[in-house]
Amino acid sequence: MQFSHFFEQYDLINSLIKIADQGRVSHAQLFYGDESSGAFAICLAYAQYLNCTNKQRFESNTKESLLADSCGECPSCKKYSKLIHPDLHFIFPNTTTKKIDSKNSSILLMNEFRDFILKSDGYVKLDDWYSYLDIGNKQGQINVRDANDIIAALNVKSYESEFKIMIIWAVDKLNYDAAPKLLKILEEPYEKTLFFLITQDRENILPTILSRTQLIKVPNKSSKYKEKELPYLNLFVEWMRNCFQVNSKISEIMKVVEDISKLGREEEKQFLNFTLDVFQKCFIVKMGLTIEANPLENCEQKFRDNFPNFITEKNIEKIYKEIEGAILHVERNGNAKIVFLDLSIKLGFLLINK
Ligand SMILES: [Zn+2]
Repeated sequence: MQFSHFFEQYDLINSLIKIADQGRVSHAQLFYGDESSGAFAICLAYAQYLNCTNKQRFESNTKESLLADSCGECPSCKKYSKLIHPDLHFIFPNTTTKKIDSKNSSILLMNEFRDFILKSDGYVKLDDWYSYLDIGNKQGQINVRDANDIIAALNVKSYESEFKIMIIWAVDKLNYDAAPKLLKILEEPYEKTLFFLITQDRENILPTILSRTQLIKVPNKSSKYKEKELPYLNLFVEWMRNCFQVNSKISEIMKVVEDISKLGREEEKQFLNFTLDVFQKCFIVKMGLTIEANPLENCEQKFRDNFPNFITEKNIEKIYKEIEGAILHVERNGNAKIVFLDLSIKLGFLLINK
């Protein structure tokens, strides 16, 4: 993972780079921000940068650009990109699964975790992790075994890089018994060892942990979503045009549904969030409640002028509910074609019967 993935976070990233270049990296840092902030992915990129043996510097005249990045090519970067660097450790909420029926720990689920991170491109969410593990309604915790594993890992000298890095994801899920152990570890800095703690839920972090870490707020900017705005908009327009045919041409709806289901689960969710956004903004703009840009600005004029007329006070709430329901189904691994076909029919009728 390289910084260039999150260009939009250049402010934060450049300050991390400056701190690193001045050799002032704090031994324990708590990154907090909501799930779209990419806090986990930024930590990964930061860890990769710190251990890269061929850091790239950029000459730049504009404020809005990155100062430096990892090379992505050196042996350290290559291992980082596969999450298999021997000096990179992860601790995360875990529980018993079908495979591990007792004494669960992060280490025992490391292969699954790696796979999950790589598939989600570092944009991780606890619910997704739990559904990936297929653990039903169970919730994960960071337990005493995890805390002991941290100590064991720290007692080994780093294998091949300057810094040994311990990423503790969702540290708000630290259980009661494990907390004193982690506190003790954070109190006694180990040489050349860095702790990156991550949370979406700063309110639930023990004050004693907060006081031992440097707090870093990761602002909420998802560049991933931005890049796809235009393709999503085009897909949205095509989809909506077909939804209006719900009475006559289900086969046409099916074709768009096929296209959407090719996106893959993560992108389907993003697309649905995008859809929710468009409806919301169309409604707000139509009601004259904002001077914000029209989300359909880049659409063909006929669609831009007509579509908002179908979103009314009568149907907007139901539309939200249906889309939010679909997001939930996608998150829970529902069959994408069924979820989107069902949603298309419901949206079609809601729009027609405005
Ligand atoms: Zn490198």
